[in-house]
Amino acid sequence: VSDTDLVALVCCDLGAIVRGRSLPASRLEEAIRSGVGWVPANHALTPLGPVAEPNPFGPTGDLRLLPDPATRVRVPARGETPVLDFVLCDIVETDGSPWECCPRRFLRDTLHELEAALDVHVRASFEHEFQLPLDSSPALPFSLEAQRRAEPFATEAMAALAQAGLAPERIFPEYAAHQFEIPLQPTEGLASADRAVAFREVVREIARRDGIRASFTPLRDATEAGNGVHIHLNLLDGAGRTMLYDAARPASLSEFGGQFAAGVLLHARALSALSAPSPVSAARLAPHRWSAGSVCLAQRNREALLRIPPLVSVGGEDPALQLHLEYRGADASANPHLALGAVIRAGLDGVRARLSAPPILDGDPSKLEGIEAERFGVGALPDSLEEAMQALAEDHVARSWLGPLLYDAYVSVKRAEIAATADLDAGELSRLYADVY
Ligand code: GLU
Ligand code: MG
Repeated sequence: VSDTDLVALVCCDLGAIVRGRSLPASRLEEAIRSGVGWVPANHALTPLGPVAEPNPFGPTGDLRLLPDPATRVRVPARGETPVLDFVLCDIVETDGSPWECCPRRFLRDTLHELEAALDVHVRASFEHEFQLPLDSSPALPFSLEAQRRAEPFATEAMAALAQAGLAPERIFPEYAAHQFEIPLQPTEGLASADRAVAFREVVREIARRDGIRASFTPLRDATEAGNGVHIHLNLLDGAGRTMLYDAARPASLSEFGGQFAAGVLLHARALSALSAPSPVSAARLAPHRWSAGSVCLAQRNREALLRIPPLVSVGGEDPALQLHLEYRGADASANPHLALGAVIRAGLDGVRARLSAPPILDGDPSKLEGIEAERFGVGALPDSLEEAMQALAEDHVARSWLGPLLYDAYVSVKRAEIAATADLDAGELSRLYADVY
């Protein structure tokens, strides 16, 4: 550590913007004990810049950003660019007690509740897509040519992610222009969301060093595929055994897994307000974009909100260890801790209510009508952020997960965003959000 190196103490806010304060890295030890100052109204800042008005905080109050040393991420200096060094923080009161609007706390409490009530433990991973705004004409989707044209970015990004401890699995060109996907390895619940926050910043840093801005915007251009965030979820018992696998049941999804999935589908529309919460998010989730066109459970089907990815037996892999649920309805405008926490809360609600397992759909959900659509529980996701916020307002169970102050703060940010973008046409909206995420 050189005398001039900085370390940033940061949190990911309600609009999924990483904000914080930097200090000389030599002073980190001190800050780990007592944190640095923070302001409640920072949680009312919109991703478009201005603070949301009205908001429940106003000018009063003081908090601390308390770093969690386990989350520290470093991307070494290169040339003129100094090290990127940051640590994710909990937002706490000045006496160190948790602040009720801290998103990390929301996820941690959710995981504790699942463990305390059912001795169930979450392993999760986030799979991100993003685009590089290159001027060159894009190479063909998934082609090696596209991969090579993105060098040295691709190799540098993978190396930086691995070095930062974020465990990237692979990188590949996706369907849209200059679009890439990098899935991360699964890990324990809180760490998986921490990694999602850090992942975006490391990818942006590497692109920035190449003079470009990586964009995770949900939909850059309505004529092309969107940038999704898919959350992969596994549930284990106290001994580390799968709670989701049962070879005797449809798609090998256990009764417990079916109840959990049913809870996610039941609250799907409200969940959208937390997992796909930008004014450009709903357009990505329209049918036939291979994102999540319908609220249903499916196997090997990219039109469903919840998918059971294939079980691979080639090479002697154990299917029981692989079976998990993939929630396809998230994007990078969502705070990962809120999104994952809310999906788990929804699943837990399904388990508590012993909902019956949703049938597993094989075909295109948009082709089903009437009774058939009803049987599969096929329904539409909200058409707009406004509709999603309305669904959250009407779903009293989902609202209660957040608690009154966090709910009010969240609503104020999203209302302000809706108001600020009301007069923009689709093109203007996409361009605006391409620069935000
Ligand atoms: N781009 C799709 C989305 O918006 C996902 C494609 C895929 O990886 O299955 O979610
Ligand atoms: Mg993909």
